[in-house]
Amino acid sequence: MTRKVALVGKPLRRRHSQVMHNAAFAHFGIDARYELRELDPGELEGFVREARGSDWLGFQVTAPYKEAVVSHLDRVEEAASRIGAVNSVVREADGSLVGFNTDAPGFAAAVEEMGRPIAGARALVAGAGGAARAVCWALLTGGAGEVVVANRTISRAEALADSLGDLGRIRAIGAGGPDLDEALAGAHLAVNATTVGMTSDGVPFPVALLPPEAAVFDLVYVPPVTPLVAAARERGLTVRNGLEMLVHQAEIAFRRWTGRSSSDAAMRRALEEWDRSDPA
Ligand code: NAP
Repeated sequence: MTRKVALVGKPLRRRHSQVMHNAAFAHFGIDARYELRELDPGELEGFVREARGSDWLGFQVTAPYKEAVVSHLDRVEEAASRIGAVNSVVREADGSLVGFNTDAPGFAAAVEEMGRPIAGARALVAGAGGAARAVCWALLTGGAGEVVVANRTISRAEALADSLGDLGRIRAIGAGGPDLDEALAGAHLAVNATTVGMTSDGVPFPVALLPPEAAVFDLVYVPPVTPLVAAARERGLTVRNGLEMLVHQAEIAFRRWTGRSSSDAAMRRALEEWDRSDPA
């Protein structure tokens, strides 16, 4: 029996997850495939019922269903419920569906890989959506010294900081002005968790204000070189885009579905080959 996993959302613009997971299945000789399922809101419940079947290993969830899926699952792990977003689901041996979040550990793994420890770091996080919530959770539970959340709509940053305030030092500011300048000047790590650079041009914060030893992490991976990544490189700062986070979070989901670890090298290779053959 060919086992199945899928990505559900709408619209589904990216094929990176399908490319990575299908390469990992092939690498380990597992008879399974990763499908893309673009669903209308009324189709979500029916899909989750289908995914309870024994041919399913689990599935992944993207916008706009990361919150809506929760009510259809049997259980949601503590971290995902604190973050407020389920982006992966595993079908347990007894057929129950358990939701979890791979963005937070994927981010933490990618930052540590830059050689930048989260423990003790002062971090500036631009954005207050689902990705920013996962990033802030990862930073606080990883022992960051302070997290400053800067968002265009300050009320969303305040709500984020309030909801995670028991995990460590976190405060909210607006996306510009002297508060942002001061937070940047004292940051060890500056993170873009907005869609700026992907859906619009420009930078979420000016890298010129960061200290020379600061690192920049842009969650955006399409395009691979955003204006923020280019500006950070230009200044000689350590910088990464979101591709390694994407690979790490995929490796975590794959491990939960199959019990196989270290799929990341096969995934990375597949993305590189795909990028050479089909850069769209
Ligand atoms: P989201 O929930 O839609 O949040 C979008 C955020 O971007 C909000 O804070 C929004 O501010 C801000 N924003 C949008 N347009 C802006 C503009 N023109 N100027 C300033 N701020 C703007 O999105 P999300 O799911 O959190 O995703 C955020 C980014 O992370 C996306 O680019 C996504 O691709 C990326 N991501 C990457 C990975 C990975 O593995 N690398 C994983 C997850 C997400 P307001 O609140 O003011 O609207």
